[in-house]
Amino acid sequence: MDCLFCKIAEGTIPSKRVFENDSVLVFHDIQPAAPTHVLLIPKKHIASMNDAEGDDFALIGELHRVAQQVARDLGIADSGYRLINNCGRNGEQTVHHLHYHLLGGTRLGALVG
Ligand code: 5GP
Repeated sequence: MDCLFCKIAEGTIPSKRVFENDSVLVFHDIQPAAPTHVLLIPKKHIASMNDAEGDDFALIGELHRVAQQVARDLGIADSGYRLINNCGRNGEQTVHHLHYHLLGGTRLGALVG
């Protein structure tokens, strides 16, 4: 499958890895939008949040658990952070392998409310 994040998960495309376990990989975004900006992906290919089904939701729970841990490890937990999933065209999803952005290290500005 011609998927950029599958290749990053396999290691055929290099990335600056922050955390890895059997099911999840975390690496630095190539174009950081904040002082801390990492991407969390399931190693399993799921194209988008729209495509998650069945056991994928346990995997999505694991992504959230890892996000909490990585935020602590990167020193942004206490000051706060944003965890974002972009889905589909209106969500401006550009890489079609489900992922979360973990952003922090500065005030990010209000998106909603
Ligand atoms: P999306 O717009 O799909 O939510 O986010 C995709 C993210 O992947 C973008 O923030 C973009 O900078 C990042 N990205 C795209 N290509 C690469 C790459 O080759 N390596 C890394 N580390 N990040 C990438």
